[in-house]
Amino acid sequence: MLAIVSAIFIAALSGCNQKQDYVGFVFGTNLSIHLNEKQTSKTIRQINGALADLEKLTSTALVGSDIAKINKSAANTPITVAKATFYLLKWSKELYLATDSAFNPAIFPLVKLWNFDPEGYIGAAETIPSAEQISSTLAYCNFDYFLLDEKELTVSKTHPQAMLDLGAIAKGYGLDMAVDIIKSNGFLSIGGSIGVKGDSKNIGIHDPRGGKTFGVFALGNNEKVSTSGDYHRFYFASGIRYHHIIDPTGYPAGLGQENPAICVSVIAKSGLITDALSTAFMILPFEKIEQLAKKYDCKGVIIYADKSYATFGGYEFELINNEYSKAI
Ligand code: AMP
Ligand code: MG
Repeated sequence: MLAIVSAIFIAALSGCNQKQDYVGFVFGTNLSIHLNEKQTSKTIRQINGALADLEKLTSTALVGSDIAKINKSAANTPITVAKATFYLLKWSKELYLATDSAFNPAIFPLVKLWNFDPEGYIGAAETIPSAEQISSTLAYCNFDYFLLDEKELTVSKTHPQAMLDLGAIAKGYGLDMAVDIIKSNGFLSIGGSIGVKGDSKNIGIHDPRGGKTFGVFALGNNEKVSTSGDYHRFYFASGIRYHHIIDPTGYPAGLGQENPAICVSVIAKSGLITDALSTAFMILPFEKIEQLAKKYDCKGVIIYADKSYATFGGYEFELINNEYSKAI
């Protein structure tokens, strides 16, 4: 599970007696909260409550969640959802369109086919799906099959097998909610996403292929960082690495490319944006990433398989691991 945390905290908190640390588990990943302010127990309770509520609405795995209800609904049957679910779906639609469907919240049937869903994933596989299975499943991994009715707060699908997965965006939104609950000073991480309130924190980005730190940067007040990579959920079959981010061809992003992106960190004020775009940027070409970074006011770094890296949006950091060098 530690491998899931793709960024590490370098910062040591000051020794103030109002400091409180908390470690938990949410959205299938580790949660850690570090507070340096008053009434920490109450804040931790509120953050835990908000994240648990959001998970109960958006999880594919929890029976009765809005997303589980939509996924098992019949075609053309409106399902009423909570405001928070609708808000995420509306943003998902925008980002699906803006990323030319690289960010695809309707990817779940393929995530299941590749056994990267929470129920199916065991970190190993002897075979991969056939080309026929992939292309027939891809045909209904289409967000256009979901109709969002904002007035009624309902979602209906027009293809019976279409299914949603907010796994690449919900925890970023949860991070936004959690940071808003912190009163003045603290930071927290949910899996590969970190958010700060108050004093800035030095954050280390893991080397995606080793135990060392790749680089370090300062995350400021209200900023969030999310990291996506091919090392969070993956398996090897016949010596080839397959990972959990599925691109519009139906295969793991970068598969068969000479020098694919293996890790992307995105920094912005919105965790919803950093989470969704870090996933999409594992798929998109660099020129498109630069365009989207401008549009959504974010910055970050892409690490490639050949140990080169490229920054976007004016991102600056201190390179720690000299095995890596700037891509030309
Ligand atoms: P993240 O760790 O935020 O990069 O999200 C990865 C998770 O999002 C995967 O485990 C899938 O559940 C889901 N996912 C996979 N591919 C995509 C995609 N192209 N667009 C949106 N979500 C995806
Ligand atoms: Mg994401």
